[in-house]
Amino acid sequence: MHQKKKSGEAIYRCKNETYFTLENPQSRPLPVYSWDHRFAGKYPRITKEFFRCKGNPLNPIREWKREGKETLYYRDCYGKGGHGLPLREGKEFIYPCLVEILNYIQEKTGHRVVITTGHRCQEHNLYCDPTPSNWGSKHLLGAECDFFVETMETNPQEIVDLIISYYQQVPPFKGDTEYEIFKRYYREGLNVAHPPWYNKEIFIKLYQEGEGRDLDNQHSHPYIGIQLRMDRETGRPVVFNEKEAQKFRRY
Ligand SMILES: [Zn+2]
Repeated sequence: MHQKKKSGEAIYRCKNETYFTLENPQSRPLPVYSWDHRFAGKYPRITKEFFRCKGNPLNPIREWKREGKETLYYRDCYGKGGHGLPLREGKEFIYPCLVEILNYIQEKTGHRVVITTGHRCQEHNLYCDPTPSNWGSKHLLGAECDFFVETMETNPQEIVDLIISYYQQVPPFKGDTEYEIFKRYYREGLNVAHPPWYNKEIFIKLYQEGEGRDLDNQHSHPYIGIQLRMDRETGRPVVFNEKEAQKFRRY
């Protein structure tokens, strides 16, 4: 009885009809177009996104024992999930000069620039290095970055020369001696053996192996730190300011 109630339409296949077999998709590298501003050389162009705070709430509480004083305890921030970059006129801001120089290095060398420290909030800055000399770090303002270049880790001097050549080749600095000519900074008590370099806009520090090993720089390579001295937009010196350091986006 059940069989009798069945109804439907038969499906016929034409004589020469066959199934199509699908080929597996082939992976191919993304083409690099000269007009595509997402790339600097073969690597993605560095943007302010690369500078977000490296704090991690899973990091354990850190003790800082001080001679003759009570022990202090620090915890890390929530990182880029907890807060954003410094704010300028309501927008997230990193000094564009840093972004430009790092892209220039990436284009000229053809190797990836690895930013180990970009912006740091106060919580992460204290967690990385609680010593008072670090309290006024320009990382808090988005005016400092530490980095090395992949495959060129052991030759940081070449990268310093490249930064200097940026000011000698890129307009509007080309031809302006205040930018083109870098002086050396000789002073006792610096935490680096190489005297730093500076011009009107930036200050360059070269940290060798064993120097400047705060928590963000626990790798074994020498690295370079660039600090802003002058704001290109306003022409004013970039100095640490407690109020400015607390102006960053909080989620
Ligand atoms: Zn943070």
